Amino acid sequence: MKRQIVLASRNVHKIEELKLLLDTAPFDFVNLSDYPNAPSVDEDETTLMGNAALKALSAQQHTGLSAIGDDTGLFIEALDGKPGVLSARFAGDYATGADNCQLVLELLKHESYRAAKFVTVLALAHSDGISYFEGHLNGKISMSVMSSHGFGYEPIFIPDGLNVSIAQLSRQQKNTISHRAESAKSLLRFLNTLKT
Ligand code: IMP
Repeated sequence: MKRQIVLASRNVHKIEELKLLLDTAPFDFVNLSDYPNAPSVDEDETTLMGNAALKALSAQQHTGLSAIGDDTGLFIEALDGKPGVLSARFAGDYATGADNCQLVLELLKHESYRAAKFVTVLALAHSDGISYFEGHLNGKISMSVMSSHGFGYEPIFIPDGLNVSIAQLSRQQKNTISHRAESAKSLLRFLNTLKT
């Protein structure tokens, strides 16, 4: 039987992506939906690394398993890197992805320079400590919402070299180029060497 690792998330999109990206790892993946009493984490660190570590350590402590925390941010150059580490709550504490997209479009209404990047940091809390894996995706913010599909900021983010938003890509296409894919690739290499 394979060893278990917990994905420190209840976000179905992240869980689906990470499970596919880490499919060949010598582990079975569970997630926090399998642990209804797991505490929710206040993401109050000032960096993606800090928040990814908080999520991973909390899940490791609750489950006794090694744990993977994912923290992702959208960094927009014309907004001095905002929303960045505050991406989830950019339009308010209970903001939906659509609310956040609308706020970004509003703030960039008169801006032609729309360069942006997604950054994902994966933190793995394991028996020897904590290890970090980072990935990026460069692109730009569209002029309007381009799709009713996708999650988070996907409907307004056009990756470099493409003319459609991430929300319009197949899961396989996204998993070839994405920030999460890049970070998961280095995590996968590490997991394959992990003894405990
Ligand atoms: P967090 O990492 O769960 O804190 O997510 C930060 C914000 O970025 C949330 O608003 C997510 O919906 C959004 N987000 C996270 N990952 C992605 C992604 O892969 N594409 C688009 N938006 C994302």
